[in-house]
Amino acid sequence: MANCTHDCSTCGESCGSRKNTSLIKPPHRGTKVKRVVAVASGKGGVGKSYVTSLLAVRARAMGLKVGILDADITGPSIPKAFGVTARAEGAEDGFYPVTSKSGIKLISMNALLEHDDDPVVWRGSLIAGATLQFWTDVIWDELDILFIDMPPGTGDVPLTVFQSIPLSGVVVVTTPQDLVELIVKKAMGMAKMLDVPVLGLVENMSYLVCPDCGKEIEVFGKSKAEALKTAYHLPCVARIPIDPAVTELVNAGHVEEADTDALAEVFAEIMRARTIRF
Ligand code: ADP
Repeated sequence: MANCTHDCSTCGESCGSRKNTSLIKPPHRGTKVKRVVAVASGKGGVGKSYVTSLLAVRARAMGLKVGILDADITGPSIPKAFGVTARAEGAEDGFYPVTSKSGIKLISMNALLEHDDDPVVWRGSLIAGATLQFWTDVIWDELDILFIDMPPGTGDVPLTVFQSIPLSGVVVVTTPQDLVELIVKKAMGMAKMLDVPVLGLVENMSYLVCPDCGKEIEVFGKSKAEALKTAYHLPCVARIPIDPAVTELVNAGHVEEADTDALAEVFAEIMRARTIRF
């Protein structure tokens, strides 16, 4: 390759000189984590961060030690949803995550920037490097489960995360109006290539409950969740309605008060997923 940096860990090419060694990076020596679950989507704005937050809230409510790694470097939204404004503190050889009201540990670009609205205008390789540092340099302490809010798509940055962080599995988030079939196919293909199990599919904004008659209206078209479950042999699917109260909770930084019942099955599947070595 003409512009090869000889660093396979930040490169998505499967060229002839790729080293056949594992690209998995160990976490900070102050981190002991049992399960790492990535939450991915085909495009932005489908509610990936919301689903990540709900899964973490559910895990925490069960008394588990939980962390969220916000790998959406250019569009971080996790600290805001949890109402956390503290900045990450540095240690001699790493840095500490910030903590939510219920005790969920969070790391996000927003916890490092001077101002929340500072833009991150970086090249892909730098973004991938920063994301990896959230894994290698953050002192997570003991965690039962770490959720990764992935950047959308199947580009270079998500690929680097998938290749460098040992994952128990991935949860895919879509909406009915997405090119769902294509996105699920791509996500499944990527997960298969990298030997990461798909634990479930969440169809967010699946329907709206009429406030007057209680009827479910499929605003963005008919749900594809069950058909996809069968077609792709997915362990489980979940449907989350469009709910204006959600937007309010997220905007007010109160996502910890949201109802997580729609994700009960997906969460159970996560708890059955393989544990990792670190
Ligand atoms: P992504 O991480 O995929 O970019 P977000 O989780 O940030 O998407 O969600 C995008 C916006 O949609 C946020 O303002 C969020 O509060 C809102 N949202 C997400 N899911 C729902 C839902 N089920 N009902 C209403 N609003 C939602």
